[in-house]
Amino acid sequence: METIKERILREGRSLEGGLLKVDGFLNHRIDTNFIMDAAREFVGRFKGTQIDKVITIEAGGIAPALMVAHLLGVPMIYAKKKQPETMSNAITAEVFSYTKSEPAIVSLSRDYLLKGDRVLFIDDFLANGNAAAGIIYLIEQAEAQLVGMGFIIEKAFQPGGDYLRGRGIRVESLAIFESLDEYEQKLV
Ligand code: 5GP
Repeated sequence: METIKERILREGRSLEGGLLKVDGFLNHRIDTNFIMDAAREFVGRFKGTQIDKVITIEAGGIAPALMVAHLLGVPMIYAKKKQPETMSNAITAEVFSYTKSEPAIVSLSRDYLLKGDRVLFIDDFLANGNAAAGIIYLIEQAEAQLVGMGFIIEKAFQPGGDYLRGRGIRVESLAIFESLDEYEQKLV
């Protein structure tokens, strides 16, 4: 069976600036079978860990986080990039967007992330760790507990992975790229 990394290598494209384009199956047109395979892998890796909620950030994390939450039978909550007027008791964090190269204030309601909740963060990519740091700050404000972080793709040539592991956080990445050389070889 094709591994998650093989699929990414087959269909992804390497762009300028250390960016991977995977929007044909991961974060624009979504292959639900691919996302479900990834979600099953996360669930297997975090087996034995008590998880009350899965948390993510708009927009790329929503699909994998939803599938993981569904398999675990727990709610999924996502930080929103635009705070709606209907949101009560909002907590916020500033996150620098890797793909848009600009900061954004993300928010979620304290009504849904409760003190003591054991939460698993799931996202599509780990690059510099800014999205993850913003989520950590939201979790701290809610006095919830982070039990781990799962990423479909970790770009290990960027500092996010070392930063998070250095903070003692359990990080599980399904496809780790030490560089984008594998792509350059493929495209020759
Ligand atoms: P970080 O906050 O770790 O620097 O970047 C993570 C976020 O940026 C992810 O939520 C993802 O949306 C986006 N991102 C980072 N690197 C890439 C990339 O190579 N390709 C795409 N499509 N998104 C990325």
